[in-house]
Formats: sequence, structure tokens, C-alpha cells
Amino acid sequence: MLADRARDINPEVAVIAGGPHISKPYYDRFDHVIIGEAEDGLNQIFKGNQEHVIHSKRKTDFDVSPYIDNKDFVIHQKKLAKDRGLELGIIFETNRGCPFACAYCDWGSATMSKVRQFDLQRTYDEIEFVCNELKPNFWFHADANFGLTDKDIDVANHLVKTKSQCGYPKTFYYSPSKNTVKRNIELAKILWDGKVIDTFNIGIQHADKDVLMANKRGNITPAQFERVGKELINYGIPANTQMILGMPGDTRDKWFDSLCQIFEWGFHSETKVYWYNLLPNAPAAHPDYMDQWQIETKPIIYNQSRLVTGQDDLIDKAADVIVACKTFDREDWVEMNIETRYLQALHNFGILRNVASYYRFAEGIPFKDFYKDVIDTIRMHDLGQEFDRQYSAYLNKLLTTRSKNNYVPFYWNKQVALLEPEDILVLHLLENKDELFLYLAILYDHDDLLRYQKDILIDINYNPDIGRKISMRYDWIKYFNNMEFGEFNQSPPRLNKRAEYETNQKDIIGPTDFTSSRILWHKTNNTKRKGDLFKRAALGQIDWRGEQRLVLKQWSKIPPASNP
Ligand code: SF4
Repeated sequence: MLADRARDINPEVAVIAGGPHISKPYYDRFDHVIIGEAEDGLNQIFKGNQEHVIHSKRKTDFDVSPYIDNKDFVIHQKKLAKDRGLELGIIFETNRGCPFACAYCDWGSATMSKVRQFDLQRTYDEIEFVCNELKPNFWFHADANFGLTDKDIDVANHLVKTKSQCGYPKTFYYSPSKNTVKRNIELAKILWDGKVIDTFNIGIQHADKDVLMANKRGNITPAQFERVGKELINYGIPANTQMILGMPGDTRDKWFDSLCQIFEWGFHSETKVYWYNLLPNAPAAHPDYMDQWQIETKPIIYNQSRLVTGQDDLIDKAADVIVACKTFDREDWVEMNIETRYLQALHNFGILRNVASYYRFAEGIPFKDFYKDVIDTIRMHDLGQEFDRQYSAYLNKLLTTRSKNNYVPFYWNKQVALLEPEDILVLHLLENKDELFLYLAILYDHDDLLRYQKDILIDINYNPDIGRKISMRYDWIKYFNNMEFGEFNQSPPRLNKRAEYETNQKDIIGPTDFTSSRILWHKTNNTKRKGDLFKRAALGQIDWRGEQRLVLKQWSKIPPASNP
């Protein structure tokens, strides 16, 4: 699709393909196909090699820097981007290769390989050139395992130093190394303190040991995540996790437990859930593996809805998604998706996170038991059934649509939803907050805690000019401010005199300007504009979403003297 679209725009364009998606049946769609690392293959084409399929030499010469040895060319590209009003993003490597071999992955066709490190001075020079001259908005750090060696600590420190001098890059994304807990924590703290990252992202994929084994990820130890999660959350770094829905070996129960297990490990901030995109050259696409797990895929064009502004945004989201296998069927796949959205809305976005944490750490009720009861209860009532009906209609349409070139949008209340399904659920639950908390009161009788949780949520009715007051028999604000996640936290004492707090919080404050938002929706009476302003501020951007946006944080205690 991307090649066809490029030729629509410019019929003269030469289309060169490579990377993890390329497979033989599609070779004819391209002018050239490069097998192996791209640098040498591209060089051969520039030097006049006319062959259709070009094999790169096996090892790239890392003495040549794509930035330092092509400064004029790269600066010209930046100028072109600027002239077109485009933000600059860069891809940056300090090594190549990965010692692991996860079944779903085809990281540059260099998995299960010795990691080849670039010269450190070259990396320092590149960091200085990229930050000072290119000033990128977005930096994708393309090492498969940043933090694999002590060298990465030096790289992180150099990046922090350079950013402190020039202010770039604005945002930074990296894949932490696996099984290097101490260094991962140190690295995250350096980058956080140096204002290079505003969240810590980690690919956990699944928490069940057997599912990890089935996906050739058995040599990555899940227990390490617990240490990383707890230490980072207590340091104040929001930690996001990535999970894959639909791994061979998974079941509905294992998936639900796995999502809740990562809350147990301390990762509360945002759970990003990806469908299993079966890459043609990944080990999982091998016929023996496909047979062993009876894998069924469906070609699906999907998107991150919030980013879709036109047809072109859909092009690169076509994937062969695993929708059934030996251990789960299509119906399970639909249910796993629905339950995922509830866990994201209720826990990640914070609609019930404090209540769940109280029951977990003061009463010993595991997150999975708490959420199972809560989600089952919501889904028994109209509130839940309304969401289930519309979301499952969308998922079932994805499963049954015939043409692989058709994009199927998610319709919510007859309108195309330009939000993620979990965002839609968050808005739906917030709109019906009273009803939601009535159902909760059937399950849990701590009415003071439930009222507190309901009152701290930022909803569209919140107006900073009027502010909000809360009055409690237990000091929940103090309790949750002091809570050590992962530790037993004694129930707070019931007070003789009610604790009262107030807030006129005017902003949603992230660690950077980029992640912060003004609360402005109270300034308009236009319903549509009000809704748009609320969505933009409260649901967030690519990163830094979740509880930190939807919960009022700036409370002042009303002194007892003025609280008769
Ligand atoms: S998913 Fe990450 S760790 Fe696993 S093989 Fe791919 S790059 Fe390596």
C-alpha cells in the first residue's frame, strides 16, 4: 500500500523495500529489494547496481557515520522538513544486534546475534551533531537493548549533558535491556533527572512464564520487572508497559491475570496493548511453528485513532494479526480485547486505581480478584453492555470483513471514533460516574473511600474557577500521598473531625511543557468544543497518559479552625 501510494504521488519514484515485512510473494511490487542490513545494499544501488534483489554484505562498516559523514545531506533534509512544516524525528543507534530471539520479532533480521558496538567517540560526536544541528523533536533510540553494557551509562550521561546545553531532543524513546535490572534503573534515573525522558517504557509482552516460553522469551526473567517497577514508581517516574495480546499459549484467564500481574509489579501508569502482528520473517511465521500452535491470522488495517487525520495515516498499519490459535479462539480474542479496555480505563487511567490499591495493600485482595468482580458487575448492567455491544461489533467486523484492503473504523454512537477504544470507555464511564460508583457500592462498602475516589477524578464538569472541595472521615489524600506501592499499608485511622481539602487546579502538569495541558473546557458553553478541549487535555498524547491526567493532584488542606 505504501509503495502504491508513493507511486500515485510521484510515478517516477524508485521504491526500495527491505526490513522485517518483506517476503517473496511481494518482491515484484518493488523496484529493488534489499536483503540484510540496508547500508551496503543502498550503496550498491547508488553505484548503479540494477539487480532486482540485492544482498547486502553481511556486516556493515560502522566506521562510517550516517550523520557525521553526511552532514550536508542531513542538514539539507532538515531544511526540507522545515519548509514543509514537518517536525523532525531521528533514528539513532549505538550498536546493532540482539542476543534474544523472541518468536514474534524480526529486529533488523539481527536477533540472536552478537551485539556489535559502535565506537564510543563516534557516538559522542553524533549526539552533539544531532542535538546541536538537527534539533530533533523526537529521538527513537534504535538499540534493541539500551542498558546492555556500562557503555550505555556513558552514552546516557553524554546525552543528558548535551540536552542541558541545547534543549534537544524534545522527546526520547528507547527499549530497555532485558535481564539487566540494576543498570536499567540507573539509566532510567539518569535520563529522568536529565529531563530526557518523561516516562519509562518497557516491553513486558506477557507475565506468564509458559506463554513467554512458547514465544521463545523464556530466557527473560519476569521477576526482574517487579524490582524495576517498584523502584521507578517510588522514584516518581511513570512507568509504561507494552503487552502483546494474542500470543500462542495464551488464554483468556492468563491474559487477564497477566495484565493484573504487571500492576502487582508496580507498573500502574499506562499499559499499551498491541495486537500480535505476525511478521513474515519472524520465527513465529515459520510453517512448523504455525502448525504447532494452529495459528490463524486476519489481515487488518488498524490505527492509533487519535493520530488519524487522513487516509495516508492508515497505510503503515496493515498487519496480519493473530486472532486465534490452539489455546484461544476468536471469541476469546474479542473478550480479551474488551477486558483489556476495562483494565486500562479503570486502573491505568485511574478511575478506580486508588480504591483497588487500598484493597490490595491494606486488605490483601489481589488486583485480579478486585477487577474481575468489578468488571463482571459493570458488564452485567446497561453501562457496561452499551460499551460491549459497540466495541464487540467493531471487533467482529474486523474478523469477518472480506477485503484485506478495507479499513474498518470503530463507530461509537454512530460516529467514527477518533479515539482509542479505552479512551471511549473512559469518557463513557466518566459521563456515567454516579451510576458506576453505585455499582461499586454493591461490592465494596467503604463509602468514604469510594466518595473520595469519585471526587478526585477530573471530569468535564470540573471548573477550576469554582474548584472542588472534598470532605472525608479518613485522610485519603495523605494516605495515598504517602503510600509505598508494593508494601503493606495499614488502613488510615478514622478521624474525629472530618478532613477537608480544596483545589483550584488549573493545569494538568506533566514533567515537560510537551506533556502539560491547560484546563480550558470550562471557558466555553459550546458542547462540541467543550468535549474536544476536555479530550485533548485529559486523555493526553502518545505518552504520558493515564491517571496522571485524570486525577486532581493539587489539594490544600482546609485548616480545622475554618472547618467548624
Ligand atoms: S523483541 Fe526485543 S529482545 Fe526480543 S528479539 Fe526482538 S529486539 Fe530482541
